[in-house]
Amino acid sequence: MRTQRQVVDYSLQKRALLRDLHNGRVGTLEVCDASPYLKNAARFHGEPTDDRCPVCRRDNLTLVHYIYGDELKQSAGQARKLAELPVLAMTLREFQVFVVEVCQSCAWNHLTEQYLLGRDALSTDELVRDEPARGEAVASSSSGRHRETGSSSHRWEGRR
Ligand SMILES: [Zn+2]
Repeated sequence: MRTQRQVVDYSLQKRALLRDLHNGRVGTLEVCDASPYLKNAARFHGEPTDDRCPVCRRDNLTLVHYIYGDELKQSAGQARKLAELPVLAMTLREFQVFVVEVCQSCAWNHLTEQYLLGRDALSTDELVRDEPARGEAVASSSSGRHRETGSSSHRWEGRR
């Protein structure tokens, strides 16, 4: 999605956790603890992937997209289908998306990334492209300068 911004990637943390798991520093039960809610969200709203679960390798991972933000009101914290996000991004100014990968076999789950979506990104793009804000600022400051020089030159004339 081209409007994604402030993207935070958690793949490093995930790799570190998997390393700890393979070294035996972390138990499988500690990392394969997807709640029934998360598993349901994966089943009903999840985005299937071609990636095998890094823990059990029995099933492919499912990505669940959780949305947060004041504008969402009672929908905040809900899981949404990936296809619904562009629609929300057109109607809301800004909301946060958390992407969680889930294995429906062994309950492995991990936050993969988070980012912001919303119309705010679109309007910023337009500002950069058309630069109306900067144009206005230049216009107002130059007109202010005109007024100043005008009055000072009048004063000069008066003193002469
Ligand atoms: Zn698994």
